[in-house]
Amino acid sequence: MSIKVQEVSKQYGKQKALDNISFEIQQGEVVGFLGPNGAGKSTMMKIITGYIPQSAGLVEVNGLSIDEHSLEVRKQIGYLPEHNPLYLEMYVKEYLDHVASIYKMSKKKSRINEMIELTGLGLEQNKKIAALSKGYRQRVGIAQALIHDPKVVILDEPTTGLDPNQLVEIRNLIQEIGKEKTVMLSTHIMQEVEACCERALIINKGKLVADKKIENLNSDLSTQIIEVEFASEIDTAVLNTNQAISAINSFGKGRYELSCKDDIRKDIFEMAVKNKWTLLEMKSKTQNLEDLFHELTLK
Ligand code: ADP
Repeated sequence: MSIKVQEVSKQYGKQKALDNISFEIQQGEVVGFLGPNGAGKSTMMKIITGYIPQSAGLVEVNGLSIDEHSLEVRKQIGYLPEHNPLYLEMYVKEYLDHVASIYKMSKKKSRINEMIELTGLGLEQNKKIAALSKGYRQRVGIAQALIHDPKVVILDEPTTGLDPNQLVEIRNLIQEIGKEKTVMLSTHIMQEVEACCERALIINKGKLVADKKIENLNSDLSTQIIEVEFASEIDTAVLNTNQAISAINSFGKGRYELSCKDDIRKDIFEMAVKNKWTLLEMKSKTQNLEDLFHELTLK
């Protein structure tokens, strides 16, 4: 087990930012941590990395309790905090050397070069961090998180504010890192989780509301969407007699979107035949992580 979070709560004064959260992340897993703003993602990540203490509950990293082995745990974790705090006046190489010194690394030089190579910082390595674009600053942040070769990597919104090209590059880098390490990353971008992660944890208002394998997402949704098109408008009151339909959205010219409890395409077809509605098209809309996210966090 790489990360074990057991019944963790965090209180900021009167506000409960995390409410009795439990989950486990296995070694080598790449897990997306999702939730609306203010859900408690950063708080959870700060607790796992030992930056702030939890108010209640247990956290273990690689079998070590963060309360009893705080320093040892920090050696095993690489952390890119939200907003990526960097020393802007330092040069890229100088900064990485500084971070490597903090970890008291023996073969600093070769490791710094490895990190520069991995994160694609070759052309920027002798520049001041202040002179770098946001995408390259993120790479520096990721390089500092990996420099001590941690087993577990925690990335708090690593792609926020990047342009579409930078986004793809950083995503590829995360996938590369995920081949060797346990990765937990928070993000607002659902496609990112679908692209990089095997599993998604969703939190809302400090509570864990989903822990799903990406490949099983569709089967877990409680509502199915069926898109249907008839040659002309139909009497939706007739459609509504089917108990499985919970909502009908009309888009005009005979096009409808039906929210259903089950896949009732066969029923719709039979209804169309019976009522002489000319059916032009019907399909079950594939739902994705975004649908699940809305279903669970708009409450
Ligand atoms: P997220 O990362 O999901 O946006 P955060 O963990 O940053 O959420 O915040 C969760 C809640 O805790 C928010 O309501 C936030 O305002 C509050 N919070 C975070 N840090 C502090 C703090 N240091 N003091 C008081 N409240 C805080």
